Amino acid sequence: MEISKELTEAINDQINFELYSAYIYLAMASWFEEKNLPGMAQWMEYQTDEEYFHAKKFYRHVVERGGRVIMTSIEGPKNEWSSPLDVFQEALHHEELVTSRIYKIGDIADKEGDRAAQSMLRWFYDEQVEEEASVTEIVNHLKMIGDNVQALIMLDQKLGARPAPTEPVAE
Ligand code: MG
Repeated sequence: MEISKELTEAINDQINFELYSAYIYLAMASWFEEKNLPGMAQWMEYQTDEEYFHAKKFYRHVVERGGRVIMTSIEGPKNEWSSPLDVFQEALHHEELVTSRIYKIGDIADKEGDRAAQSMLRWFYDEQVEEEASVTEIVNHLKMIGDNVQALIMLDQKLGARPAPTEPVAE
């Protein structure tokens, strides 16, 4: 079944937003590099890769179903934050926004009874639960750490051990 115009437009918009997310996380990675927190910088770089994979997963869905993906300009991200906690809190708010946007796409797929889109979107619902949980854990750890530099360096090392993401297999 060919994808509808309304759903194509909503997913197109989300492709742009996933690329915008990648852009934000790369800006955050660079900020951490400057602050001598290479583990957090690495974590953010991998997060950038994940967002690019998300954009591509949406892209594949539209293309495979006869839709056309239109690339538009990506908004410039913020580049300055006050602390590592400030960065990760913003990342958490951003992921919550992503989740709400994906749910809205789900509302369209449900309204249309588009089973293929519903199935594709289920992967994203699960992914967003993971994204929010992992960032929430980091935010909570940073709150516990406060001004303890030694603890901050330990967390930096832990986050630097995050494995590189792999592109999700197209279904
Ligand atoms: Mg994403």
